[in-house]
Amino acid sequence: MASSSSYSSSPCAACKFLRRKCMPDCVFSPYFPPEETQKFVNVHKVFGASNVSKLLNEVPTYQREDAVNSLAFEAEARLKDPVYGCVGAISVLQRQVIRLQRELDATNANLIRYVYNEMPPRPPPPPPADQQSYGFCYPYQWTDPNEDNEGSNGGNM
Ligand SMILES: [Zn+2]
Repeated sequence: MASSSSYSSSPCAACKFLRRKCMPDCVFSPYFPPEETQKFVNVHKVFGASNVSKLLNEVPTYQREDAVNSLAFEAEARLKDPVYGCVGAISVLQRQVIRLQRELDATNANLIRYVYNEMPPRPPPPPPADQQSYGFCYPYQWTDPNEDNEGSNGGNM
């Protein structure tokens, strides 16, 4: 039986870069196809091929693609920004979210002012306009104070 797998002819990007024979059970080959050399080069430069190999062997198969995508993203970000890496990108996006949230709040406030001026007798829909903590949620309602009222006394009315 001569089985011919589709990638037996060309080694994966990792094996090609490391100049070794790409075996059928190569841990890199499903995630680093031969045409994506740069992806492996970045990951290898930042994390090291043996660390990536160890990590992939510890991760369940169904999560390996996500793990590789995450490593590739982090490696690329780290090479672009050696100091902050992907944290730099995250904080830029967080600032953008805060700015857009403020813009949205200001626009909503203008809209409400406009609606009030146009039709004053209407009851107001309560806008949370006084909240200043944009973009952050504090889980202050996770503990329910009425939770243990049930077991102690049945007639509490
Ligand atoms: Zn390989």
